[in-house]
Amino acid sequence: MNVLVINAGSSSLKYQLFDMKNEKILAKGLCDRIGLDGHLKHKPEANDKPVYDEDISLPTHAEAISAVIEKLTSDEYGVISSLSEINAVGHRVVHGGRKFSSSVLINDEVVAAIEDCVRLAPLHNPANLMGIRACQEGMPNVPQVAVFDTAFHNTIPEYAYTYPIPYKYYEENDIRRYGFHGTSHRFVSDVALQELGLKNGKSRLITCHLGNGSSLAAIFSGKSVDTTMGVTPLEGIPMGTRCGSVDPSLVDIIASVDGISLKEAMDVLNKKSGVLGIYGKSSDFRDIETAAGVNIDTGFMKEGAPIDARAKLALDVFSYQVAKFIGSYVVALGGLDALVFTAGIGENSPYVRRSICKHLGGIGLYINEKVNAVRVSEYLDVSGEKTKPKVLVIPTNEELAIARDTIEIVKK
Ligand code: ADP
Repeated sequence: MNVLVINAGSSSLKYQLFDMKNEKILAKGLCDRIGLDGHLKHKPEANDKPVYDEDISLPTHAEAISAVIEKLTSDEYGVISSLSEINAVGHRVVHGGRKFSSSVLINDEVVAAIEDCVRLAPLHNPANLMGIRACQEGMPNVPQVAVFDTAFHNTIPEYAYTYPIPYKYYEENDIRRYGFHGTSHRFVSDVALQELGLKNGKSRLITCHLGNGSSLAAIFSGKSVDTTMGVTPLEGIPMGTRCGSVDPSLVDIIASVDGISLKEAMDVLNKKSGVLGIYGKSSDFRDIETAAGVNIDTGFMKEGAPIDARAKLALDVFSYQVAKFIGSYVVALGGLDALVFTAGIGENSPYVRRSICKHLGGIGLYINEKVNAVRVSEYLDVSGEKTKPKVLVIPTNEELAIARDTIEIVKK
């Protein structure tokens, strides 16, 4: 069976076509600048056909899906001979609210529920819906499945998801901690439990998804019991451009210092803060580490390299905050069997892994400095000799997780 995985943003649409017999990618690509001018990059993976990388007119997501289907089935760039070889479509949906604790087959009721969650994710859910509607139009007979970023965190207990604000906001407006990156936390925690032989029985994991957006999850016996992001992805650890958890009074203070509206002050916290805010020149960890004098391949400091103090400070603030949340999750879990690093920074930055773990001797956690000194493309145990909790690096694969859920649901 072949599954098309769709991740629709407001002006973009990423896709991967999987052959689920062997979980191999047949083709993948990106429609960009939808609604502006339009660009499609399509890469066949299953044969030697060329990459298509051209500007094309993409006025809406519907045209984008048509273009994707055309490329997937074309003689020149295709990997399947007709639309009938796409057996199901899996959609990444950012917010499932309180309603969805797992992936679901999409019907009118599910679409209405995703629409209802637009108030909780006004930037993301409308785009996800455009992707769903475009696929329903372009492939009316193909079953579609929604896989929610929030679903994995639906097991978080009430005392961990309730904000200490007037309770009416929860009762009347569903305001609570939801968390995101659930598909990634679930994927890497499954791999960790499998590798550690802890699939059945009691287990305590902390997963660190460190990318442009970053979040941590505390996972007890395979279930999320706490996570750092909240009702929106702004809460938690500092990120590329988001501040993470700070004193909420800052919104008012920034607005009055800069003479801007509260909404503009929120933009400062979402788009100009995090490591970008501190360093000032880039939100990309490769740039920040290089400026701080780090050899980004090994994670060790380059001898004699100049050290930009603000870049170093941005890395120090990031690592300290991540470590602090890890400490709090050891409390939430009543101990720790393994710490897992994943996503762009978690997989590729030996420096960040090391500087986070440097704070964690107090919980008996140590890494092996030599083993850790690499970028990681498959499961790697970087645990130090005397460590109590294991330290693992596990590449995430959200698209494959979506494809697996999709197959499981359409097979039922
Ligand atoms: P997204 O949240 O957009 O999916 P990713 O998971 O791809 O993001 O992570 C992007 C981040 O990973 C960027 O900050 C990038 O600098 C960082 N990154 C990628 N490769 C490296 C590397 N070799 N060293 C340090 N950071 C890296």
